[in-house]
Amino acid sequence: MALIVQKYGGSSVADAAGIKRVAKRIVDTLKSGTQVVVVVSAMGDTTDELIDLANQVTPNPPGRELDMLLTAGERISMAVLAMAIADLGVEARSYTGSQAGVITDSVHGKARIIDVTPGRISEALAAGAIPIVAGFQGVAQATKDITTLGRGGSDTTAVALAAALGADACEIYTDVDGIFSADPRRVPKAQHVPYITYEEMMELAAMGAKVLHLRCVEYARRFNLPIHVRSSFSDRVGTWVMSDAVLKEKKVEQPIISGVAHDLSEAKITVVGVPDKPGNAASIFEAIANANVNIDMIVQNVTTTATSSTDITFTCPKTDREMAVKTLEALKPTIGFNSVEFDEDIAKVSLIGAGMRSHPGVSASFFRALASADVNIEAISTSEIRISVVIRAGQTDAAVQAVHTAFGLDGSGEAVVYGGTGR
Ligand code: ASP
Ligand code: MG
Repeated sequence: MALIVQKYGGSSVADAAGIKRVAKRIVDTLKSGTQVVVVVSAMGDTTDELIDLANQVTPNPPGRELDMLLTAGERISMAVLAMAIADLGVEARSYTGSQAGVITDSVHGKARIIDVTPGRISEALAAGAIPIVAGFQGVAQATKDITTLGRGGSDTTAVALAAALGADACEIYTDVDGIFSADPRRVPKAQHVPYITYEEMMELAAMGAKVLHLRCVEYARRFNLPIHVRSSFSDRVGTWVMSDAVLKEKKVEQPIISGVAHDLSEAKITVVGVPDKPGNAASIFEAIANANVNIDMIVQNVTTTATSSTDITFTCPKTDREMAVKTLEALKPTIGFNSVEFDEDIAKVSLIGAGMRSHPGVSASFFRALASADVNIEAISTSEIRISVVIRAGQTDAAVQAVHTAFGLDGSGEAVVYGGTGR
């Protein structure tokens, strides 16, 4: 019998009616002759509400306790969903991440999965029950403390479980019909993307498309596990995320550009007046890495001959900004730079497409589109299949729209957004 893992996001289980709708979909899948394991996120905006609650108590909640608090969100939805399935006459058993065998490292707030031992899940399946697993959480191997995988981490739970169970596919249910050529909440003419490669999806996820968690795509790619991203509010076929090789086998013709992503979650940090000599960049980024701050774009300016110093700019999540600045300030005496500055009023806009590799002129058209929308570029970075720029946050919509139109991505219909806040 085929086995699939289905993951339902917060907007799909936002209230009792949503939970009942999802329960019916799960039971229908089982009745159609497929074994199902379910991974569920916290209801609606529960996670944000729990974070707000913690912040009302203290501006700096200890990581261990914040993780314990946040995992409560998924415990609520898993238990209520199991009840709704039982009400339809099918046995369901809910499990915390720890019970499901999701073993992580000990980094609170963004733990990495290091092993999955889903013995209890296999037992439940063998007994004919539907296992419902709390997403986004695990247990640290070293400390035995409860951890969370980072915002949006339930996707990763689902893919990791699917890989460990040898599932045929992982279905990620959300509030849109899959991946679009831009965020349909901002670009009404965004088009549905039927197939996308892991590489493009990873770039999209890393560049701010919130539909899938980056780690989940990395994980799926490692295990060559197909992901089907689709809406729990419709029966439409969503987007299949697969390897290049499988798409070629299926003779799927891939477009040059797959989409435009934007990201408002980052801050820009500049270390001003860094003496230009070997070892300084290493010291700066070692310290940042040791503070567990994930950095993204890095730009080093041309050295001014008069002072023989340079500015180093990078972006990182706004949530890591304070830690990054504090860490850098501490380095000032050893490195001897002038100051550390930060700016949170930025956006990153990226163009992604595997066809960029073999088509010249993509950057030129991208920059021309931004210029026509009167958007100033503050930093640029590229990969083989992506170009990203940092711009003012207030110009995000104008920039995304201009680029989307310039690359002929505008569709004829309006994309449907079924619910949720897109958070
Ligand atoms: N509930 C968590 C969050 O909102 C995890 C998830 O939704 O995947 O980030
Ligand atoms: Mg969520």
